Amino acid sequence: MPRTTAYALAGIELGQARLLPRSAVSLPQAPLPTARPSTADQPTAASTKHRPVSQGTAAEGWLERGAALPAADPTLVARPISQRRKAIYGTSYLIERLADAAATVASRFPGSVVWAGDLSSVHGGDLKGHKSHNSGRDADLSFFMRDTSGRPAESARFIPIEPSGRTRSGLWFDVERNWVLVEALVADTGTTHVQWIFIADHLRAMLLEHAEALVAQGLASADSVKRAKRVLRQPSKSSPHADHYHVRVYCDLADRLEGCVDDRPRHAWAPDHSEAIKHEVNGLLPFLASAPSDEFRYAVQRLVRIGDKRAVRPLKRLTSHPDPAVRALALDAVDFLNEVRTPAAWRSWRALDGGAGE
Ligand SMILES: [Zn+2]
Repeated sequence: MPRTTAYALAGIELGQARLLPRSAVSLPQAPLPTARPSTADQPTAASTKHRPVSQGTAAEGWLERGAALPAADPTLVARPISQRRKAIYGTSYLIERLADAAATVASRFPGSVVWAGDLSSVHGGDLKGHKSHNSGRDADLSFFMRDTSGRPAESARFIPIEPSGRTRSGLWFDVERNWVLVEALVADTGTTHVQWIFIADHLRAMLLEHAEALVAQGLASADSVKRAKRVLRQPSKSSPHADHYHVRVYCDLADRLEGCVDDRPRHAWAPDHSEAIKHEVNGLLPFLASAPSDEFRYAVQRLVRIGDKRAVRPLKRLTSHPDPAVRALALDAVDFLNEVRTPAAWRSWRALDGGAGE
């Protein structure tokens, strides 16, 4: 490839040289021009090459190089049943966020343990018994419980809690510790943002009532309660979640640029990465003019993964290109960008990337 092209590609490159055809990977050794804005969460070659990547949506996506729950964390422990099912994998940022929240509770209430139920399989995809949990951004967690004498009684068993706040066997929902966990999960740490904590309405109400009382005493921030009100939700189309939490995090920016797709809504405090995405798309569009070429194919693959509609119009123009291979690729890309996103379509784009087998 001409040296100037290599420089230009390097300027827009996201550390996914593995996506490039072999002929396009020989980047120059000299310092590269930085066409990208330098922001703290900018993906780099080091950050995306070996890390887990969440692809597609939580219900129809998958996971590449899933990270396992830590085996020796005393405060975040995988349930034996989930270990047996090998459903203990997720993105690094999901696992870090869960581990941090569990550690926060344990620092306030020593000995507290969060039992992690299913996350995702190592490669993601459909997981028996779940509608989502496909892409490494979902996790089921135990509630904190106390027994009739007030002793901590959380266990690897997920036991339904009745509207009275008790289980049939007399254990009760420990609203104090459960709020500390929720508060830690909804905190705006500036990095990983929690989109949902699914939980039954009666438990949600107990948590929020407790939190409001803490705010009145100056022991919790009104902001955290506001965020909790948005994030805590009884799902309408699945189990009410009266026996465990289900936590979902948003895609981080690096995953977003690799094809991670968030469902709505986007909470006001969670960045939508629109500037970085726009910058990336604008950097790729000029390479469509080079069809047919490796750079063209690379740009189409990246634009499809990013899933930004700005690419539709220039790709549509290529559907009348004289080269039939260019026409076919452009047509597939337009379909995909127009929401024809079946798992099969995802798989075929992934195979084009050379990413099959991960
Ligand atoms: Zn779940």
